[in-house]
Amino acid sequence: MMAAGTLLELKAVERYYDEGPRKLTILSGADFTLKRGEMVALVAPSGAGKSTLLHTAGLLERPNSGDVILDGRACGRLSDDERTAIRRNDIGFVYQFHHLLPEFSALENIVLPQLIRGLSETAARERAVQLLDYMKIGPRANHRPAELSGGEQQRVAIARAVANAPLLLLADEPTGNLDPSTASYVFEALEALVRQSGLTALIATHNHELAARMDRRVTLSEGKVVDV
Ligand code: ADP
Repeated sequence: MMAAGTLLELKAVERYYDEGPRKLTILSGADFTLKRGEMVALVAPSGAGKSTLLHTAGLLERPNSGDVILDGRACGRLSDDERTAIRRNDIGFVYQFHHLLPEFSALENIVLPQLIRGLSETAARERAVQLLDYMKIGPRANHRPAELSGGEQQRVAIARAVANAPLLLLADEPTGNLDPSTASYVFEALEALVRQSGLTALIATHNHELAARMDRRVTLSEGKVVDV
């Protein structure tokens, strides 16, 4: 039984890579729970397995054993198509590098995932405009990513990640490429969006100042998720 307030649960997750005769174990009996509306920082050194944890939680990778339960659904044994549908509808990703489509404007980058989900172009554009305004980049809506600053690109990437109103936002060093003051500004925008929309977020960061502003901090130790 999943507690009413729980959005995401990792249960006894094992994740290893076969390295020829050796097994490289990244997650080993990892248990982790995210409550609805929580904003949690994942802080661990490079190579500790942060990306692996985020990809497993975000249904991009399957655990070798154990399960990932999102909004009451056990996802480990679902088909690839079912996992893709959940990812598209319920999970938003932000990476260290923006990964925006270079040939499309900021606005179009936010419209596209909504069209793929089946929204009308009018509704998708309306939401994209609102999100860009909310991220304070409305005036940059018709610019392509290359014409935007690093901080603006990340704000567009964040807007795109929440375009389909996901339940869960996963971010892998979202401000890792930015100078400290831009990082702080972008994080503030991200935080406001998460709080205002009641999103649940797990955010990997090396920035201890930003981590301190979240509800809770976890790290990875011997393949397990532990509070710090
Ligand atoms: P972090 O995000 O904390 O830097 P990662 O989750 O990216 O850590 O990686 C954890 C460990 O798993 C690293 O040692 C990395 O080299 C290894 N690893 C990641 N992906 C693969 C893969 N596809 N095959 C083999 N080893 C991998």
